[in-house]
Amino acid sequence: MTTPRKVIPIIAQAADTQMISPYAAHEKIYPRSVSGFFAHWRWAVVFLTQLVFYGLPWIEWGQRQAVLFDLASRRFYIFGLVLYPQDFIYLTGMLVISALSLFLFTAVAGRLWCGYACPQTVYTEIFLWIERKMEGDRAVQMRRDGQPWSFDRLWRKGGKHLLWLAVALWTGFTFVGYFTPIKVLGLEFVQMSITSWESFWVFFYGFATYGNAGFMREQVCKHMCPYARFQSAMFDKDTLIVTYDAERGDPRGARSRKADPATLSLGSCIDCNLCVQVCPTGIDIRNGLQYECIGCGACADVCNTVMDKMGYERGLVKYTTENAMKNKWTQAQTWRHVLRPRILVYTAILLGIVMAMLISLSLRTQFKVNVVRDRGVMARIVSGGNIENVYQLQVMNATEADQHYKLRVTGLPGLAITSEDVVMVESTQARRLAVRVQVPYEAAAPGTHPITFEIDALDSAGHLSEKSVFMVPR
Ligand code: SF4
Ligand code: SF4
Repeated sequence: MTTPRKVIPIIAQAADTQMISPYAAHEKIYPRSVSGFFAHWRWAVVFLTQLVFYGLPWIEWGQRQAVLFDLASRRFYIFGLVLYPQDFIYLTGMLVISALSLFLFTAVAGRLWCGYACPQTVYTEIFLWIERKMEGDRAVQMRRDGQPWSFDRLWRKGGKHLLWLAVALWTGFTFVGYFTPIKVLGLEFVQMSITSWESFWVFFYGFATYGNAGFMREQVCKHMCPYARFQSAMFDKDTLIVTYDAERGDPRGARSRKADPATLSLGSCIDCNLCVQVCPTGIDIRNGLQYECIGCGACADVCNTVMDKMGYERGLVKYTTENAMKNKWTQAQTWRHVLRPRILVYTAILLGIVMAMLISLSLRTQFKVNVVRDRGVMARIVSGGNIENVYQLQVMNATEADQHYKLRVTGLPGLAITSEDVVMVESTQARRLAVRVQVPYEAAAPGTHPITFEIDALDSAGHLSEKSVFMVPR
């Protein structure tokens, strides 16, 4: 007799994850306005960065714009500095410094750049401010958007878009003003004589600002910015991140201000949802660290105001580290661990590179010379029996005054320059000249010989040596 087989029923498990179609319509986020410590810091950074961005192109330095990246003549002017394509190393240095700063700040306090200084955050903040001025805060906007179109809704939305466009186009105009003298650009605009490339870039940059800050907003951070994807590689358990203290906050629940949470078996979180309403990316910080979190601290600010109203201690949502939460460290202990060896190494490397770059800039010769043997003119024997080679020299004056340069050549007995050996180069200009170099016949054997051009600046201190070769025909 066979025993009946035990049948294990297959029961569908309740889904614990939410399926979201990649084609689902995007739901607009209406971030609620917030004020507090971190919001004040963000606005301070917004003011500072925009003061610099909008203000710099209008500052004069002598007879020119103080900061101008003149691509047409391949010169970058940064106050007293004039940089040539040959100074590309400084751009590389700037990029290395920016990357290291990003690593350092991210290792210390997570996405500080994203939450406070990234142009996407800064312009979204400005656009949100305009939106709230025109359409009201979150609740009013949501109510109005749910109503049919009316004159009131139309002029508010229209006014908002006009202001957004004005800010965006001014941003595009300012951006192009770093590459074309901004006063000339302004005049060209007024006289309608702006070039097609200039107008393309003004409108392109303007509409990118309008689209990204007005419409895309958190979508840029969530789906377009690569930084959000690799940030976790720079975090460790001693990185300061915006965190909800679940041990203190849970179980969550509404209660009256006078109620004692302990008697109700509740934590400090009153489940008001305000931390979600202020979040620019629409996430709930109580679900733990999420890649969408840009570390702006808005949820910490609003939760502190809630804690104040309830008469609870602040810091239910705060900047802290994973280790500090686990080990219940005090603030002083947390900071001691934040300043860990990794941070000190990053800081030392960063300071080293900054110092090296500053020293290199201060010791930089204020002129450049390129030497090319003129291949169009063969080595030849000239009258008097000398052997002559011709070279093309490009002398670039990186100062803002006319300069005279004395040319010499060394490397063979009797080697001398027989053409003009003192050249004048106008301020910030480059001059090409053909230089004839001769050597007495039989002073050198047939073949190629290394020689050196020695160039001295006569009106300012400075010396350069450039190597080349001298050909003696058979
Ligand atoms: S703001 Fe604070 S109290 Fe309110 S839901 Fe968020 S964590 Fe809880
Ligand atoms: S969770 Fe908090 S810190 Fe993160 S983006 Fe939202 S509001 Fe900002």
